Amino acid sequence: MSDEIYLDNAATTPVSQEVYEELMDKYKNVYGNASTLYGLGRQSRAVMEHARDIIAKSINADTDDIIFTSGGTESDNTAIMQTALSRQSLGKHIITTAIEHEAILKPCAALEKMGFKVTYLPVDENGNISLADFKAALDDQTILVSIMTGNNEVGSVMPIHEIGEILKNHQAWFHTDAVQAYGLLNIDVQRDHIDMLSTSAHKINGPKMIGFLYKRNGINFPSFVKGGDQEEKRRAGTENVPAIAGFGKAVETITEAEKAHRQAKYLQFKKYIADKLTENGVDFEVNGQISKDNLNHVFNIWLKGISTYVMQTNLDLAGIAVSGGSACTAGSIEPSHVLVAMYGKDSPRISESIRISFGRYNTYEDLDQLVAAIVKTVNRVKRKGVKA
Ligand code: PMP
Repeated sequence: MSDEIYLDNAATTPVSQEVYEELMDKYKNVYGNASTLYGLGRQSRAVMEHARDIIAKSINADTDDIIFTSGGTESDNTAIMQTALSRQSLGKHIITTAIEHEAILKPCAALEKMGFKVTYLPVDENGNISLADFKAALDDQTILVSIMTGNNEVGSVMPIHEIGEILKNHQAWFHTDAVQAYGLLNIDVQRDHIDMLSTSAHKINGPKMIGFLYKRNGINFPSFVKGGDQEEKRRAGTENVPAIAGFGKAVETITEAEKAHRQAKYLQFKKYIADKLTENGVDFEVNGQISKDNLNHVFNIWLKGISTYVMQTNLDLAGIAVSGGSACTAGSIEPSHVLVAMYGKDSPRISESIRISFGRYNTYEDLDQLVAAIVKTVNRVKRKGVKA
């Protein structure tokens, strides 16, 4: 691994040793096309089905209801577009939130152009939606509700269980983007009445360009990836069996106890950084809140008077990788729609925030180096009296 201090784990994570070994083994030894009849194909299929089993168990789903995709983006796009297109005769209303990932917001915008109505639930200054707003938005035209399990920029966690309960007796299908929450929170599609769920392997020390869409039995829309009949008609294209096996290995490594351990450790990390910045006289505020109920790997802070660009560049020069307030736009220095939804477009937070996100390999030493680099940058900017 490089000597870079990597604190951008909500963007992606390094592949773990276990996953690396699994990938190498399967790339070398398992290359048959999983849709073929002969021995090598059967071997590939067995490897793939083993991973599918592990993954299904991790969310309390039936194995048959897991569709492998190219990642969170494809899973989200599929859930939104294919639900809308296959159910439009029942209604043309979709409910989502203002702080979803672009992989949800962009298909929703495309659907609006096609005549669908989309309600974007607002959030408060902690990045939370209100159930009253949700109930008020739900009507007999609503065919889909897509609300993320936890947010990728500020870590707020949505009331998924309550929403699932409300939708239990409603026609609308319930989709949740669990890309950031998977691996940190206990997820149970049956307990929470979730109809569809998206995840991605590369956020949990797995390989990139592989994820899954959970689609409960009875939801029969076709994939928009059309071609051969691989994946038992779930999604066309030759499966990336080594990546699927690597994904399975990543999931297997993260037990429920490990999730709780990570949540607790990352919460301590946040408190540690906040205390150290305060001790060093840095003027900052948390975007959202430090709460045990949030996704604790995400820590978004407003460093007052220091532009995101200046801070990110200085941290990069110190060998420290963090993200801008908005994690998903080019160079991550575009205004964050999440911070805009929380604080309004004129808030200085929009251009003066960074997102620090923790992963499996981070240590307190990493945090000390981060704090030292932030303090140095703040002091230099202030000493020179320039408005950065
Ligand atoms: N949803 C959320 C909440 C995410 O954080 C991301 C990754 N930034 C995605 C979807 C997209 O996932 P992928 O990179 O696997 O396409």
